[in-house]
Amino acid sequence: MTDIAVTLADKRGTLPAEDKLGFGKIFTDHMFVMDYVTGQGWHNARIIPYGDFDISPAAMVLHYGQAIFEGMKAFRTGDNRVVTYRPVDHLKRFNNSADILSIPQMDVDLLHAGLKQLIALDKEWVPKSLGTSLYIRPFVVSVDPYVGVKVADEYKLFIILSPVGAYYASGFKPVKIKVEEHFVRAVKGGLGEAKTPANYAASLKAAEVAKEEGYTQVLWLDALEQKYIEEVGTMNIFFKIGGEIITPELNGSILNGITRRSVLEVAKDWGMKVSERRISIDEVYQAHAEGRLQEVFGSGTAAVISPVGELSWKGRKIVINNNEIGETSQKLFDYITSIQQGRVADKFGWVDEVTKL
Ligand SMILES: *Cc1c(COP(=O)(O)O)cnc(C)c1O
Repeated sequence: MTDIAVTLADKRGTLPAEDKLGFGKIFTDHMFVMDYVTGQGWHNARIIPYGDFDISPAAMVLHYGQAIFEGMKAFRTGDNRVVTYRPVDHLKRFNNSADILSIPQMDVDLLHAGLKQLIALDKEWVPKSLGTSLYIRPFVVSVDPYVGVKVADEYKLFIILSPVGAYYASGFKPVKIKVEEHFVRAVKGGLGEAKTPANYAASLKAAEVAKEEGYTQVLWLDALEQKYIEEVGTMNIFFKIGGEIITPELNGSILNGITRRSVLEVAKDWGMKVSERRISIDEVYQAHAEGRLQEVFGSGTAAVISPVGELSWKGRKIVINNNEIGETSQKLFDYITSIQQGRVADKFGWVDEVTKL
């Protein structure tokens, strides 16, 4: 395997007070970088001090958005180990996104080794309070200095690390979500299954309008009929109807969430009835009218589980479970976060030890 050259930072920073971390504004001392050039492949894997880098104003990513990213987390366990959660699954999905965006495939083993080496080097930055973590952001951008449209010949891959505060700093509370009826996020055959900036660019306007109306997020419907449920745009979505856990099937326009997978595997393991299938917004509203809609919750790396207390669709509001956290939402949140932080046995083999402290 390729060696990873390390250049150490002259000065080390320090982790701020853990209740002041917030999300995504503080970065650790080092970053992992790798280059790609057609004919040479991926090369020059290295760890260098975190810092700005030069890019041509003509760099292709700035003009045409050929880029992908990942988002995963490392945790400090009670017995002072640093672990990551399902890193190889995240890196495999990174390659799936690469394929969708015509970005060359990466060596998952090399990235996994680089990630571990980087986190071990910056392990003092992994916060320890309950709910905090080290957010890991791998990304690839096309950098050829060329303003014509084509698949790029030069790319840069980075992995940067950011200590983040507890997502539920003010408590684990249900959110209000607007079911989008006007804008669409992704369409079958498009980029919806890729973790790519374009999907986020496509979602900003709708999110802004929803915020003005008092909602925290948008629930997307399919782009063709605006009838079937897709996802929240940063989270996948689940419904508990008559005891059954239902989530939209992977159809090419929604993200194949790792937390989604964890929820499905855990719920199955608990003996719950679980389905991945097409589900319409009508069915959800009908179930609510019949008193069978028990819970709605989102799943994603940032929040793990996000209970939904209210949905609004075409001005029709429904309150779910009295705007209280559902039993299954709470149980899933407690169990998955306990695995991540080493408080319960990891019977699924999801946790990957990076280093001891
Ligand atoms: C990252 C992301 C999710 C959540 O996926 P996880 O792997 O669970 O973090 C859901 N939807 C979109 C569009 C995303 O980018």
